[in-house]
Amino acid sequence: MIYNLGSINADLFYALPHLPQPGETLASQSFSRGLGGKGANMSVAAARAGARCAHIGAVGADGAWAVQRLMEYGVDTRLIRTSEEATGHALILVDAAGENAIVLFPGANRALSEMDLALALSEATAADIFLCQNETNLQLEGAERASALGMRVAYAAAPFDAEAVRAVLPLLDLLVLNEVEARQLEAATGRAADTLPVRDVVITLGAKGCRWHNTDTGATQDFAAPKVTPVDTTGAGDTFTGYLLAGLDRGMPMAQAIGLAQKAGALMVTRHGTADVIPDLKEVQAFTP
Ligand code: ATP
Repeated sequence: MIYNLGSINADLFYALPHLPQPGETLASQSFSRGLGGKGANMSVAAARAGARCAHIGAVGADGAWAVQRLMEYGVDTRLIRTSEEATGHALILVDAAGENAIVLFPGANRALSEMDLALALSEATAADIFLCQNETNLQLEGAERASALGMRVAYAAAPFDAEAVRAVLPLLDLLVLNEVEARQLEAATGRAADTLPVRDVVITLGAKGCRWHNTDTGATQDFAAPKVTPVDTTGAGDTFTGYLLAGLDRGMPMAQAIGLAQKAGALMVTRHGTADVIPDLKEVQAFTP
C-alpha cells in the first residue's frame, strides 16, 4: 500500500483576452475548476494504476468536492482531514495566446499537524511505501516516521526546494526528479543527482525518457520514451511517479515499473488536463504509441 502525503488543490482556470495590468479589472470569458496539486495527481495516478493508495492531506470546508473526486478515482481518502484553512488553490489566468499567470495559495495543504501524521501512519507497516513532495508541510517528519517503521521512502523533489531536499535526502530509498530539478539539486549540493547516497534515483527527461541510477550496483540505465505527439505536458511527471510507485508496490523490478510509468507519462501528454484525465491501467496497457 502507498501512503502519499500530498497537496490537494482546486485549479481555477480563467480565460482572459490578456493578462491584467496593475489596477485593471477584467471580465473572464470562461471559468473551469479541476482537481490538481502534485500530491493529488500522484495519488490519482497510483490508484488508476491499480495500487491501494491512501492520501494523507487536508482540505478546507470548501474542499468536499475534491475529496469526493479523489474517492471516485479510487484513492483511499480516509486520512484526509478537514481544516479551518481554505482548500489549497491555484488561480490560473490564461490569455488568448496561451500565456499564463498563476497565483498559488497553499492553504490547508500546510495545515497538517504531527498528530495527524502519527494517526495517518498508525497502521502502516514495513511492506508499505511512503511518498511525499514539496507542496505540504511535515515532509521531513513523515519521512522520519516512515523510515523508522521500515517503510520504503520515496520523494518527488517538486516544486524544488533546496533546503527541503537536503533535509530529507538521508532518509530516502527513491528520489524522483525532472531534468531542471536535477540541475538545481546539483547546484545546491555540489553533487550530481546520480551520485547522491540514495538507493534509487530516477531523473525524468521529458520526450527523451528517463535515467535510473542504482547505488547498490552503481549502474545507470537510460530508458527512451515512447514516441507521441504531445498536446499538453502538464501532469506527465506526476503521472509517471504515481505509476512508478504503483508498479513497485506491486513488486515489479524497477526497470519494469519504469517501463509502465513511461507509457503512462507518454499517454498523458497526448491529453489536455491533469488529474481528471490520468489514464487507468487498462488504457496504459492497451496504449501502443
Ligand atoms: P510536468 O511538470 O510537466 O508534469 P515533469 O517535468 O515533472 O513534467 P517530464 O520529465 O517532462 O516531467 O516527464 C515525465 C515523464 O513523462 C518522462 O520521463 C516520460 O516518460 C513522459 N513524457 C513526458 N513528455 C513526453 C513526451 N513528449 N513524449 C513521450 N513521453 C513523455
